Amino acid sequence: MSVDDKLGFDKFVTDEHESHIQINEDYHDEAEIKRLVMACPANLYHYDDGKLVFSHEGCLECGTCRVISGGKGVKSWKHPKGAMGVEFHQG
Ligand code: SF4
Repeated sequence: MSVDDKLGFDKFVTDEHESHIQINEDYHDEAEIKRLVMACPANLYHYDDGKLVFSHEGCLECGTCRVISGGKGVKSWKHPKGAMGVEFHQG
């Protein structure tokens, strides 16, 4: 079974009112933006017309973006509230 197949078993409860990750939309460091795009295992970061674009739906809460950003492109990172976020089913 592939990693993508296993991820397909996970369930998500998305907070529709507040993202647990806040990005700096005015951040234009192309090298960091590309690192975020390449590093996110859920493919939630995108490079669009020189800007960093992010959607928190489907976040695996791995923390990789927080570590590699150094507080620049990613302004804040916290776990989702209460029973929200990812629920892993295949390890
Ligand atoms: Fe992507 Fe992991 Fe950051 Fe979530 S925590 S946005 S899955 S890198």
